[in-house]
Amino acid sequence: MYPMMGFFDPTYILVIIGIAIAGIAQMNVTNTFSKYDKVGSKNNITAADAAEKIMTNAGINDIRVEHIAGHLTDNYNPGNKTLNLSDASFQSTSVAAIGVAAHEAGHAIQDNKGYLPMRLRSAFVPLVNFGSTASFPLILLGMFLGMNRTLIQIGVYAFALVVIFQIITLPVEFNASMRAVRILSDSGMLRQEEIPAVKKVLTAAALTYVAAVLSTALQFLRLLILFGNRRD
Ligand SMILES: [Zn+2]
Repeated sequence: MYPMMGFFDPTYILVIIGIAIAGIAQMNVTNTFSKYDKVGSKNNITAADAAEKIMTNAGINDIRVEHIAGHLTDNYNPGNKTLNLSDASFQSTSVAAIGVAAHEAGHAIQDNKGYLPMRLRSAFVPLVNFGSTASFPLILLGMFLGMNRTLIQIGVYAFALVVIFQIITLPVEFNASMRAVRILSDSGMLRQEEIPAVKKVLTAAALTYVAAVLSTALQFLRLLILFGNRRD
């Protein structure tokens, strides 16, 4: 049997489950953020100030805090050494926004200290770019060329790179959040009673990365079921 039927064979249910898991995690982080975005921090600092202060305290002075468009698009870019805070966070004084900013500052500290999982992750970027770009074209080409096993296998393994990359991402994300909570708590930037809210926001954010792993792993499982042990 050719698993060609427009990629809508019964195993497609795995892809749908993956999309559902990722969607639920995304809804959860959006809801959690918006809930605690309504809670102003008692010290009334902005998220941008919090990020600046955390980096100054860590002795980092080569990273700029910048304002970027979008909602929850906050990120740390090690390439150009910018900590980017989105519309919702930048000027916000909410505990949610400060938590997110502190998380990104956690990435900046990881980068500054040469945190090994982050270096591994960066080194893996070219591989994952290859994997995510080439995987499905290779599989389709292999199918098109009369089920060329070699091409199909390379395509399936290329997709495995995406799964591995997302797994390597997990410790980087969890560690950035742990640093954020510790710094906000120890520095007194937030009051102790505000810390649980930060934990909830950052946990919801971390779960989106776990969901991404599950979702990609399900897609990979599907490829294995379809193409893994064909002996025809
Ligand atoms: Zn992160």
